[in-house]
Amino acid sequence: MFLLKTSNRHRQIIVIKTPNQMETVVNHIEVAIALPVFQTFTYSVPESFADFMATGKRVLVPFGQRRVTGYVFGQSQGSNTKEIKSILDILDEVPLFPSSMVPFFKWISDYYKYPVGQVVKNALPGGLNIRDYASVAITEKGRHVLAHDRLATIARDVLSQLRSGSVLVKDLNKKIKRDIPGTLLYSFERCGWITKEWKLAGQKTKARLERFVRLADTTLPVDHLSKTRTKIIDVLHIEGEISLKKLKETVPTAAALIKSLENEGYVTIHYKRVYRDPFGESIEPDRAHILNQEQLKAVSQSSNYLTKGYKTFLLRGVTGSGKTEVYMQVAAEALKNKLAVLVLVPEIALITQMERCFRARFGECVAVLHSALSTGERYDQWSRIIQGQATIAIGARSAIFAPFRNIGVIIVDEEHDASYKQEGSLRYNARDLAAVRAKQNECVALLGSATPSLQSYYNAAIKKFTELTLEKRVEQRPLPDIRIVDLRQSRDMRGIRRFITPELQEAMKASLERGEQILLFLNRRGYASFPVCGACGQPMRCKHCDISLTLHQQANAYRCHYCGFSRAATSKCEYCGSDKIRHLGLGTEKLEAMVASIFPKARIARMDRDTTQRKGSILKLLKGLKNRTTDILVGTQMVAKGHDFPNITLVGIICADLSLSFPDFRACERTFQLLAQVAGRAGRGDKRGSVILQTYNPDHFSIAAARQQDFIAFYRQEINFRKALNYPPYSRMVQLKISGKDPHETENHARLLGDLCRGLKAPPPDDYQSVEVMGPIEASLTRVAGRFRWQVLLKGLTATVLHQFINRLMSENPKVFARHPVQVTIDVDPYFMM
Ligand code: ADP
Ligand code: ZN
Ligand code: ZN
Repeated sequence: MFLLKTSNRHRQIIVIKTPNQMETVVNHIEVAIALPVFQTFTYSVPESFADFMATGKRVLVPFGQRRVTGYVFGQSQGSNTKEIKSILDILDEVPLFPSSMVPFFKWISDYYKYPVGQVVKNALPGGLNIRDYASVAITEKGRHVLAHDRLATIARDVLSQLRSGSVLVKDLNKKIKRDIPGTLLYSFERCGWITKEWKLAGQKTKARLERFVRLADTTLPVDHLSKTRTKIIDVLHIEGEISLKKLKETVPTAAALIKSLENEGYVTIHYKRVYRDPFGESIEPDRAHILNQEQLKAVSQSSNYLTKGYKTFLLRGVTGSGKTEVYMQVAAEALKNKLAVLVLVPEIALITQMERCFRARFGECVAVLHSALSTGERYDQWSRIIQGQATIAIGARSAIFAPFRNIGVIIVDEEHDASYKQEGSLRYNARDLAAVRAKQNECVALLGSATPSLQSYYNAAIKKFTELTLEKRVEQRPLPDIRIVDLRQSRDMRGIRRFITPELQEAMKASLERGEQILLFLNRRGYASFPVCGACGQPMRCKHCDISLTLHQQANAYRCHYCGFSRAATSKCEYCGSDKIRHLGLGTEKLEAMVASIFPKARIARMDRDTTQRKGSILKLLKGLKNRTTDILVGTQMVAKGHDFPNITLVGIICADLSLSFPDFRACERTFQLLAQVAGRAGRGDKRGSVILQTYNPDHFSIAAARQQDFIAFYRQEINFRKALNYPPYSRMVQLKISGKDPHETENHARLLGDLCRGLKAPPPDDYQSVEVMGPIEASLTRVAGRFRWQVLLKGLTATVLHQFINRLMSENPKVFARHPVQVTIDVDPYFMM
């Protein structure tokens, strides 16, 4: 086996030669495989690879009958001496992650019960994985047979197809328009008519290279050159070196001309790696604010720890207290100490804002990582971090995997935010991982929020975290004045007036007259969330889910928010065939229409998942607010998040109760956070802000506490409930989610799982006395996307005991956790209980 890597100026060629079995093995490495297996494997490294080998690179390894991608975790710590296979290739020139991340990946795999190689695969930017494809080619003997022998039709077809060159097996079926049995190809191979070879395909992400032009010889005469060529030379005199792309702005035909200029010795052309800018806005540099007393204290307390080991701080600062400035100054201190900074922000809208702040302060050393970037862009940003060009990374939850070697501080803004919890595939919480990574890297974690999660504040209360507080808004700005409007009084109203109460309408009118901006918050998208048949009273339901459809007027369809199922807006009642459908239930789309009918002159925009699908649309909406081309922004929880727009003076909360009725023990916590956050968007400039909070439950403690913006009052009440019911943070939870297409099979599997759990608890001595097994019960959404859903909830006093329990459950009953036909998913520290 030999690897030839020619790195000429602009291309990297990897050639794989046939393995040489005689080669000396120089060492053994530990490799994590990107397949659903929990353990790592040992492979040997032949001598010719030794110089290229490093932890954090991908390798191609044989695994069973296949060749798969693996990740090098370092020297193997002794193997179980079975036959050790040799790696086939090294796939990266530079490592994709530092060796300090290996324990992090292992911790995640163990804690969240997810195969370790797939943890790494999840962490790396997409598009890097390569796959194996078989390709077949015809031999001389095959050609001879084809020309002279009588063959079955299918044999003739296959061989004829191969006459013009080798073909991937997967494409062969398509080309001759019928299924070719694998055995047929094997027999051809055995007869020596064809040869099979493995080809690599699927690697999509490559570095982007651009052509740059530079003056070569300045002494050459230029008088005989054409006008345009002279112009190119002139530009190069000024610029020194310039990208062809830029040059074309002045000389559109440059591409054709530079080649000849190069041949004549005037210029040199070379390729350079360029980084795709995710937003492409130019950002003006800014200077640090002079910190107020509270900010100063927070900055000095946390930066004092920067080089002293692990500590997690919880920065609780009311909305508008200047937490971002604290983050930036702590970050500056970290950079001074030559340490990297990791900033996690909920979702994309806030990344833009945080990115702008950090770019303005720190310039080019900022990398951005989030899901809205194209694969290529993400790959570029990743490389900048690996190569040390970026020392600050800002991103959504997956940025917790940014491949920094030496981290000074991991900042988690709006740490309470639900978007830190990943729900699909690898179920993790990035906020929790921030503390884990900080501990492993012996650095500082700084979690900030105006409305901390109960979990984090509890950790501060028991001194696991250190609390820092900002009690006041910057420059003595007052908190907004929050007025409660009782929706029960307008219960009998019809149409618009039921939700745009006279109080709200009055306040909106006054704000508009003063030329100020308004935010209206309603946590439900679509036009009508509860379409009901006017004749028989049946609601319009999703075909695949146990949920009502939502009418989307713009899309002209009823849609399911869980599985995407849709029916035409002209659909009739499925039960009685009536076409009189009443569009009950208010969504942001209807709200927008109502507001437009009351204030026809106002410029209204809407921000929810429907209006922010397209790339750049969020940015556009935020720009509208910033440039004051939008007077009223209507939106879902997307508008509640940390935005800082000084001209918003009125916030209207249309119906505060929507999240209260969820069957989830965090319903009160979420409601409080949402209301306090959205209220906090008002009055962030010089003018005082006011909030109108409409509710059916004016006396509910979550709503009362949000009205006072009093986190502590909320915490004291809520923590007592949690304690009384032994809910987190007083216990830990693991949820087993059971789902399948057949209702009985699913139920049976859930019951079996429940019995197995209880069985583990039963035998004395009871190791798992503190583990409570709840269920199985049907999930509150009993069916989603055609799958029936059940759950078993495990509650334990510590994470350790729960993990021991789960480990035993899994190792003793591997079949129960195998995927088919009923799927069991393990959700450690579950967040959405429905
Ligand atoms: P938070 O995240 O705490 O809600 P921000 O960090 O968005 O608040 O800060 C609110 C505003 O206050 C921002 O416009 C910021 O530039 C400004 N600000 C922050 N610190 C100071 C300071 N020390 N003096 C003056 N203005 C400040
Ligand atoms: Zn009907
Ligand atoms: Zn559905």
